[in-house]
Amino acid sequence: MEGNASTSYRGRSAVPELGDKVLAVGDAMHAGERSRMSAELTDVFISLGREHGYDDVVAEFAPFKEFKSTWRRSGSSVRFQISDYMVGADHGALEDYAASLYERLSRRSRKSIYTPRLTSWLTSRDFLSRNQALYLERSRNLSLDHRGRVYDLQEAYLSLRDQGLVRACPDAVFNWTVRDNRRKVGYCSVLMKVVAISSIMDSEKVPPFVSEYVLYHELLHLQDGLRPGSRCHDRDFHERERLHPRWKESEEWLRRLARRRD
Ligand SMILES: [Zn+2]
Repeated sequence: MEGNASTSYRGRSAVPELGDKVLAVGDAMHAGERSRMSAELTDVFISLGREHGYDDVVAEFAPFKEFKSTWRRSGSSVRFQISDYMVGADHGALEDYAASLYERLSRRSRKSIYTPRLTSWLTSRDFLSRNQALYLERSRNLSLDHRGRVYDLQEAYLSLRDQGLVRACPDAVFNWTVRDNRRKVGYCSVLMKVVAISSIMDSEKVPPFVSEYVLYHELLHLQDGLRPGSRCHDRDFHERERLHPRWKESEEWLRRLARRRD
C-alpha cells in the first residue's frame, strides 16, 4: 500500500462541464472545517492507539481517489493516511473507522469495517454532496458527460426506468470513458453513485441496446448499494440481469467487441 499525500487537496481547478447532475462540492473544502476535522482525526487515532500499544501516532487526511486508507508501522509508531472522504463524518463514524483500522493493523480481525455508524455516514446525502464532484475530479478516465458522440446515457437510463427495469436513482451520474476499454466495459462506484460505460460502445457500429444493457448491469449494482462481504455477482444478480429483453444479443456483442482488433 502506498500513500499519495503530496498531491494538493485543492490543487486542481473545478470540474469542467459536469452538467446539472453533479452536486456542488460542499463546505468540506473550507479550510476551517478541514483543520478542525484534522485535529479530531488526530485525537481519535491517538487515544485509540494508546489502547493498542502505540505511543507515537500520526493520522492525516489524504486525497486518494477511491475510499481507502493506508498505514506504515514501525515498532510502537504508526502513521495513517485516511481518505479525505471522511471529512464531515461525525465522531462516532470516525471512531468506528479508526477501531477497524487498528484491528486490521494487529490482524486481530477480518470482520467488515462497515459498522452501522460508518455505513450511515457513507450512505448519507451529506457524504454525496461533499464528495461526488471531488471523486469525478479525481477520475482520469471519465468524459464527465452523459452525452457521447452517438448515444446519450441519460436517455438510456430514462428508458430503463420507464421500462420498469430499474428504480429511479436521481443522484447517479453517468459518464462515457475516455479510453475505449474492450474488456472492462462498465464500472460503477456504489459509494459515489458514479457510473462509467466504455466509449467502445458509443459508435454507430454498435447497436444502442448494448450500452443500455451494460448501463443496466451497473445500475443493478447501484440499486443493491453497499453489500460488504457478499458477492456482488450472485445467482440472484444474474437472474435480474436477464430480465433485460436483449441480454443475450448484448452478451454476444460484448464478446465480439472484446475480440475485435480494429
Ligand atoms: Zn458487475
